Amino acid sequence: MEKSKRAQRWSLSGMTALVTGGTKGIGHAIVEELAGLGAVVHTCSRSEAELNKCLQKWADMDLLVTGSVCDVSSRAERERLMERVSSIFQGKLTILINNAGTSIAKPTLDCTAEEYSYLMSTNLESSFHLSQMAHPLLKASGRGSIVFISSIAGVMAFKNLSIYSATKGVLNQLTKNLACEWANDSIRTNCIAPGPIATSLLKSVCNNEELLAKSVSRIPLRHVGEPEEVVAPLTAFLCMPVASYINGQIICVDGGRVVYDS
Ligand code: NDP
Repeated sequence: MEKSKRAQRWSLSGMTALVTGGTKGIGHAIVEELAGLGAVVHTCSRSEAELNKCLQKWADMDLLVTGSVCDVSSRAERERLMERVSSIFQGKLTILINNAGTSIAKPTLDCTAEEYSYLMSTNLESSFHLSQMAHPLLKASGRGSIVFISSIAGVMAFKNLSIYSATKGVLNQLTKNLACEWANDSIRTNCIAPGPIATSLLKSVCNNEELLAKSVSRIPLRHVGEPEEVVAPLTAFLCMPVASYINGQIICVDGGRVVYDS
């Protein structure tokens, strides 16, 4: 194979991407990875100040990134976001990364109806609805790719995370359904299920040293992952032409946590 053809297969050049929740943690690393590999990226978050700070940083790095203030738990705001994306990218989107998500750690019996609705709308309904709305744009690109960011909590049971885990387990299943339903529209759907990754979200659910040390002792690689180290490069790979036959997969990026017999 020619050198230039090979380089093209490992590039995101000419692609457009929407990454939800790109101002912090995993989403932030994904935005930088995709834009660094040639994609033009749009992202969102609830905080305008954080978003503007990131957009300035990316402009200084010569990365092509735009952004919207959007709370993905709101249907109306999701609709406005997708209208803006369609207008910026002229009706064609190559990549949708459903990353924005949050967690509340509580025993099941203490969870309120409001907490249930909040997690369902932020983690699950947003990803489902954004995928629905992105479908015509992804189809129009002729090589669409959706990546859900779920969690290993969607494949195994962690203490105090029943609602969170339920949202992630459904994303894992949704990956399989969309992978089959939309393959004929040239849209591939895959999912990354991270283990513990060093972000503000991890701090909020695993907020004491003893708990974190116990969790790390159950990871064969014996450390928590970094967003740039693990999740972002795999996300980029899944969207590249070189991954064109990968569809419907849930890939755990967890230092070996789910396969460890501890
Ligand atoms: P962070 O809290 O570090 O970052 C979350 C990002 O999403 C921020 O940019 C935040 O900005 C944005 N966000 C949160 N809620 C909303 C909302 N309602 N609307 C729009 N944007 C929102 O989280 P992580 O990077 O750790 O998590 C990213 C994804 O990875 C989540 O889906 C999470 O479940 C998943 N994950 C994380 C793991 C970990 O250990 N960190 C492990 C497994 C999965 P703002 O608050 O300003 O809106």
